[in-house]
Amino acid sequence: MANYPDKVFLNGEIIPSTEAKVSVFDRGFLFGDGIYEVMLQINGSYFFGQEHLNRLSECLHKINIEYDVTVLPEILKKLVSVSNLEHKDCLIYIQVTRGIAPRKHAFPLDIEPTVMAYALPFLLPEINDKPISVITQKDFRWHRCDIKMTSLLGNVMANDWAIKNGHFETVFYRDDKITEASHSNIFFVKNDVVYTHPADENILNGITRAIVINLCKKNNIEVQEEAIMQSDLPMVNEAFLTGTSTQIAAINMIDDHVYIKNNKIGPITKKIQQLFLNLKNSQTKRLPQVS
Ligand code: PMP
Repeated sequence: MANYPDKVFLNGEIIPSTEAKVSVFDRGFLFGDGIYEVMLQINGSYFFGQEHLNRLSECLHKINIEYDVTVLPEILKKLVSVSNLEHKDCLIYIQVTRGIAPRKHAFPLDIEPTVMAYALPFLLPEINDKPISVITQKDFRWHRCDIKMTSLLGNVMANDWAIKNGHFETVFYRDDKITEASHSNIFFVKNDVVYTHPADENILNGITRAIVINLCKKNNIEVQEEAIMQSDLPMVNEAFLTGTSTQIAAINMIDDHVYIKNNKIGPITKKIQQLFLNLKNSQTKRLPQVS
């Protein structure tokens, strides 16, 4: 099946995906009441796997789903193996929903979560060297964007609008502050300083975002976790998106503001892309599998 995995992990078993069935009373189906995570295996090991599992655990805790993520590395190891993806680059998707219960907003505490995961081949370029364009939209999502929940309708609508209009992403603003994009975080460079929105309830604290901030700090690039205002956009010199599958994507245009001409990526974005590549190579060679 194109783009579908052959095998999925569902509630303790690895089974053919065509046989994987979930109740219509699962709260994930009824309410989008669940948390998900996406991580990559690169050169045979998980790229910042522990950080992804920690975020999954923290988000589950925030919405009061009890699930011990420490069982996952063993499960994922088997899943990757039966998916014939051992030592291959792949994407791992995990979702934990609250489970099955009669439909009521308030949730019972004594139900078993529904746990599903799969792995798919996923090849990334060493460096994402194709600049992309984005458009902006008022952030019409809720006020807990720090929770990586499966109910992604706001993000889905925003991204669909971008794609249908020939852009890669929609970038949100809230009260004039640029927050993040529909499936990525956003960084700006202004007068040699790198800016990104602080990790509060208005954005998802991306693992790639944290990696980039650390890379800047370690390499004497000044970085501020401070929002750029919409009115700052004409003064910005460079802009880029970050995300697990996006990696670091230079932005050539935000609405009518042009940042890159002739695909010539700005010097600080380029440097960070190179540092990210070096890190990817060193991490994936050095770190053992999450266990
Ligand atoms: N913001 C949103 C809304 C996201 O969905 C994502 C993940 N695709 C990100 C930021 C980037 O997070 P990460 O670097 O952990 O993939």
